[in-house]
Amino acid sequence: MRKIHFLLSSLVLFILFVSCNNKKLTEVVEVPLPTAEEKVTMGIPDDVTAEEGAFQMERLSYPYDGLNPNISPLTLEMHYSKHYLTYTNNLNKAIAGTELDDLTIEEILSKLDLNDAEIRNNAGGYYNHSLYWKCLGKGSGQPKDTLAEAITKKFGSFAQFTTSFKEEATKQFGSSWSWLIVDKSGNLKITSTQNQDNPLMHNALVQGTPILALDLWEHAYYLDYQYKRKNYVDAFFKVINWKKVGENYEEALKK
Ligand code: MN
Repeated sequence: MRKIHFLLSSLVLFILFVSCNNKKLTEVVEVPLPTAEEKVTMGIPDDVTAEEGAFQMERLSYPYDGLNPNISPLTLEMHYSKHYLTYTNNLNKAIAGTELDDLTIEEILSKLDLNDAEIRNNAGGYYNHSLYWKCLGKGSGQPKDTLAEAITKKFGSFAQFTTSFKEEATKQFGSSWSWLIVDKSGNLKITSTQNQDNPLMHNALVQGTPILALDLWEHAYYLDYQYKRKNYVDAFFKVINWKKVGENYEEALKK
């Protein structure tokens, strides 16, 4: 009898144990499986417009996929329709109703109060990006005519210029820009600036008129190249619109 009693007790305990275990199993929180990939919708550059103000966005002469695969459509779209739009709107807001409202962007930059971070960052951001977009395009391999001659005269050859410019860009630390500029004496120079500063500002170590701009902020390349800034710099050289840079050079010489 005792044996039966013991067996029955064991059975009850076993059932209790299993039911508790079952209960535990049913309490496990279910994590939903990932849903289908979100569809990325991309507009067109001409749909992006700044709010009303003194400055408007520089129009792109190529679509968002026009620099692919060197600069991906997603990078270009983010850069143009988010970052550049923000600089433009913030610049307009910062100068609205001030004496800067009627000036050109070059004039604003040259007479800038460097302690005014709002205008310094946004006027720089607006000018720098406007030039960067113009320097890009299908990529025409090498400069021609006057600019080609000037580059050879100054740097020895186009290949040597390319090496020097890439070295300058890859050695920069943090958010910055590298430039090819024309200085007051009409000489070509390679230089760099931090943040959204540029060689038109009176604090620039090397001053002059920029004719080629390379954005080295991470937002310009991180989706495509992550930490490999050098690969982005190499890719940038494949999409430089040298015809436009040549025109910038001839304009700068007139100043
Ligand atoms: Mn940028």
